[in-house]
Amino acid sequence: MLIDQYPFSKKEFEKLVRQAMEEEKISFVRALYIVSDGLTNGWREGQQEIKPACQRGCSFCCYQIATCTAIEWEEIVPFVMRQKKLFRKRLHRMRGRWLQYLERNQYKLVNDPEKLLGDWRDTPCIFLGSNGDCMIYGARPLQCRTIDSSKTCESWYQPEVRKYRFLWEGFAYILLEEEQKRLGRDEEGGSLINLASQMESPRRVSRYIIGRPLP
Ligand code: SF4
Ligand code: SF4
Repeated sequence: MLIDQYPFSKKEFEKLVRQAMEEEKISFVRALYIVSDGLTNGWREGQQEIKPACQRGCSFCCYQIATCTAIEWEEIVPFVMRQKKLFRKRLHRMRGRWLQYLERNQYKLVNDPEKLLGDWRDTPCIFLGSNGDCMIYGARPLQCRTIDSSKTCESWYQPEVRKYRFLWEGFAYILLEEEQKRLGRDEEGGSLINLASQMESPRRVSRYIIGRPLP
């Protein structure tokens, strides 16, 4: 792909997303993933100098809280429903701990949402399979698609880790936020474990944790 074929503004990127929606008859979120992933893969094929060490089963970055927007969660739900049995077992193991944590900390989290990231660091994501694979890979949120490292991760402070490395990944993030707002749903996203827990029993789960990207 030639350099001038890449979008240099959010407007150009959005045009590609809307085009993909139209042509493929898919949701806004799906189209946004397809366009952003396609551009990243195209760039990597042509530019050998940015070689990620990321590969299947490598999952250090999945041992923390991951979050998504409400419109991304809607793409995840059908994946979860298809693997209901497997997922139930996993949710059963993690949900009790999550609810207890919320009960003890929800007011502190309102003032200090970053606390959540620190407290759940080193805990596997609710969708991390035992073999290191993501159970919802095809529908994983944007924040999981836009992290990479040129060296296999061994610590949380590894300088090689980059988030939103490419311009269009930043556009994708802004567009998702804007779409959420446009739909009046900007407070409905949040951590995957909270959203997953709500599938079982919406009344018992905190509504305080808003969707935030990893810092
Ligand atoms: S970001 Fe790090 S832990 Fe995650 S897949 Fe890449 S190398 Fe592995
Ligand atoms: S959703 Fe998948 S890729 Fe993202 S943190 Fe969880 S297991 Fe890892």
